Amino acid sequence: MAKHIQAIRGMHDILPARMPYWQQLEQTIKNILMNYGYAEIRLPVVEKTDLFLRSIGKVTDIVEKEMYSFEDRNGDNLSLRPEGTAGCVRAAIENGLLHNQTQKLWYFGPMFRHERPQKGRYRQFYQFGVEAFGFEGPELDAELLFLTHRLWTNLGLLPHLKLQINSLGTPECRASYRALLVAYLAKHEADLDEDSQRRLTTNPLRVLDSKNTQTQEIVKHAPRLLEHLDEESQRHFATLKNLLDKTGIEYEVNPSLVRGLDYYTRTVFEWVTDKLGAQGTVCAGGRFDGLVTQLGGRATPAAGFAMGAERLISLLEETQASPPTTTPDCYLAMVGAGTQEAGMVLIEQIRNQIPKLSVLQNLNGGSFKAQMKRADKSGAHWALLLGESELENKQITIKALRETAEQRTISQDELTDFLKSQLE
Ligand code: ATP
Ligand code: MG
Repeated sequence: MAKHIQAIRGMHDILPARMPYWQQLEQTIKNILMNYGYAEIRLPVVEKTDLFLRSIGKVTDIVEKEMYSFEDRNGDNLSLRPEGTAGCVRAAIENGLLHNQTQKLWYFGPMFRHERPQKGRYRQFYQFGVEAFGFEGPELDAELLFLTHRLWTNLGLLPHLKLQINSLGTPECRASYRALLVAYLAKHEADLDEDSQRRLTTNPLRVLDSKNTQTQEIVKHAPRLLEHLDEESQRHFATLKNLLDKTGIEYEVNPSLVRGLDYYTRTVFEWVTDKLGAQGTVCAGGRFDGLVTQLGGRATPAAGFAMGAERLISLLEETQASPPTTTPDCYLAMVGAGTQEAGMVLIEQIRNQIPKLSVLQNLNGGSFKAQMKRADKSGAHWALLLGESELENKQITIKALRETAEQRTISQDELTDFLKSQLE
């Protein structure tokens, strides 16, 4: 027998059994984004590699070791997108979405990073992303946190999530802070992990984001950027905190939160859970006021976030008693000469009359007993039986599958009314 081909490591099939959680997540997010006035945008999965080098930053985990880059048949250097912000900014500039107007956008789709696969960390994973353009003030940052907070509330996840926030100030105040940080880290150079030692000269702020525990210990006592913010950034951050206080959203200021990408300015934030081990960040984002100019557009303030769908699904699975289910209302069994055709015609007419009706029709023959077994397995509430005598008398038999109720045979003309009354 031929050896079967398997999926690529770290890239997963999402099977129908888990879809109810995905659908619940997607629907809840879409509803909330609509409530807050965000519009969907769909973006290519492949972009020029250069786009990511210029936006994410060359000295970051993503660009240094996680990108799926390749040369296509024309010799162009392309990459599977590792995140959505770069492509979204590219599209906004290219399509003139930023001229004298604000934009509040969201997208959903797969992202690709060549990481070591483990729970909550995959090579193809899905993100919901939100990006808003043209809003300079902290009110937009607050709105992003309001809407994520509302999302956790609606999904029942709020008790398991904590909000961490920080401000990275402007590139100017970061530059003067950088010198202080380097002076401190240099004293501990020998104890830093290898990546961080290298970054000490190339991109020292990245050291604050290290996942190495020994480096994290050193970072805890490093000088804090938050204490070296320019006045405007301080005011921005204070207003954000005030809006969170006024709406009762709890948060913690984490001075070493810097995020894994280079484009952030001022606000950064993460929603974190302790229920998923080391992969505890389910939503992360912040402000990136410099990115639009960096990618060739006119100066436009911007902010956004991305949510890892797999991590949210794990959290839903871990914390919800039972998955939301989707079972059909009825199963139509047809046994005897002429019943298959008559049954299928009948049920199409009923579908016309009751658009929300969910009904499975038996498509693969079998005895009455076999069809009833399938009806039961489908989870349907009712079995509709069409045998030769029902066919002859223009009737249908209805059998309840989930409760004890007497089986009854009614005229086919009454079926619509019966089902309508049951679905109310
Ligand atoms: P981490 O610190 O966990 O590596 P990150 O800083 O690389 O995350 P972002 O680039 O900000 O993450 O992506 C936003 C969110 O996308 C993360 O908070 C996480 O929920 C999710 N995410 C990132 N990488 C992966 C991955 N390889 N597999 C699954 N989800 C991921
Ligand atoms: Mg990462």
